[in-house]
Amino acid sequence: MTLDAVLSRIDDTLPEATDRLMDLLRIASISTDPAYNGDCAQAAAWLVQELKSLGFSASARPTPGHPMVVGRHAGEGRHILFYGHYDVQPVDPIELWERDPFDPVIQQGPKGPLIRARGASDDKGQLMTFLEACRAWKDVHGELPGNLTIFFEGEEESGSPSLIPFLQENREELSADLALICDTGLFSDHIPAIVTMLRGLAKVEFTIRAASKDLHSGMFGGVAINPIRVLTRILGGLHDDQGRVQVPDFYDDVAELPDAVAAQWQALGFDHASFLGGVDLTTPAGEVDRTPLEQIWSRPTAEINGIWGGYTGAGFKTVLPSQASAKVSFRLVSGQDPDKILPAFKAWIEAQLPPDCELIWSEPEGSPASTMSITDPAFDAARAALSDEWERPAAFVGCGGSIPIAGYFKEYLGMDAMLIGFGRDDDQIHSPNEKYDLESFHKGIRSWARILDRLSQQ
Ligand SMILES: [Zn+2]
Repeated sequence: MTLDAVLSRIDDTLPEATDRLMDLLRIASISTDPAYNGDCAQAAAWLVQELKSLGFSASARPTPGHPMVVGRHAGEGRHILFYGHYDVQPVDPIELWERDPFDPVIQQGPKGPLIRARGASDDKGQLMTFLEACRAWKDVHGELPGNLTIFFEGEEESGSPSLIPFLQENREELSADLALICDTGLFSDHIPAIVTMLRGLAKVEFTIRAASKDLHSGMFGGVAINPIRVLTRILGGLHDDQGRVQVPDFYDDVAELPDAVAAQWQALGFDHASFLGGVDLTTPAGEVDRTPLEQIWSRPTAEINGIWGGYTGAGFKTVLPSQASAKVSFRLVSGQDPDKILPAFKAWIEAQLPPDCELIWSEPEGSPASTMSITDPAFDAARAALSDEWERPAAFVGCGGSIPIAGYFKEYLGMDAMLIGFGRDDDQIHSPNEKYDLESFHKGIRSWARILDRLSQQ
């Protein structure tokens, strides 16, 4: 069996693979700080060399920011694009690191050996799992697996300013049949996951203005409308006592979870008590008829993120303020359109304004949710491959946050994505002392080999 040969090759060459990852981790590719521009270019060049050594045709493409790395191997079968990012977060506060963030080391951790360095998990360790799977595959088969494009970004940690123009300008080259994105984690220590639902986000800041200036409550109190009272009354009614958002038509485009996915989520045995207990909470606060996982992954939310007005300084001022403001955001799911939700929210507020109050609406912004079409047989193939490797059933899961790249691939390249990663909750990505378990690295490489093997048979 050639798959077994590839897996053995991965096991036998793990020390060399780890050394290559360490080399990449020594490059301080902090994308947000111009002082490290040279390091970002160096990381891109390092990856180009790596790709070339594997037999890809590869180059670092200049952008107004950091270079994009593109590698290509034209072969048989479906065209798969693999995405990762080579830039890393800043290291501050540096004094909380136990050692130099760019001097990687293997240490013994509570769950076995781990690699400690900035980027070990996010995302250098993760992107190298795929390249190392390609390397072992090539060592055994004599050629790379299938029809592959590799796409590494260097601005993911700094807002991806060059990404959309780059996707637009290189649409033809980068449009594959399916994208693999390796920048997520396991569901728990040993349960692998494929993220198939990512929530979107809509947000707005607004002000309710009444009198032409702040008033004295001794003189005007009782007769003049107080905009804080208006604002809090309206926002106080944003949810009913079942946790449902009260903006009209808010749930119109929300799809119900497919039964098969609901069953998988049930089987995950999510422990909401310990999830909430970690932040000293006890009771889920979302829609009462939804499970906690649904509340996080597949149901939309409305949150008041900030609220202000009047006098909040030291002491007391009996001011009757002329205006009150709030920031409100919505996590969106499935078919919800931010361009419908935000105007509906605005109309809902306006309909409740008393005389003399005016709504000032500013900076509405939104991006829709992404839901992958899991009917593509690649999803079941990847799930089976992950289940083989981890010896636990892999799950299709949601993700409460946003991973914009998946949405961009869909919007600009018309391509669905499978988000598969091997990070763990305690990897401390973006924080001091980031680590990647050697087990994540090793089994991540093996997982990709198994996935590539199954995909190559489709
Ligand atoms: Zn990342």
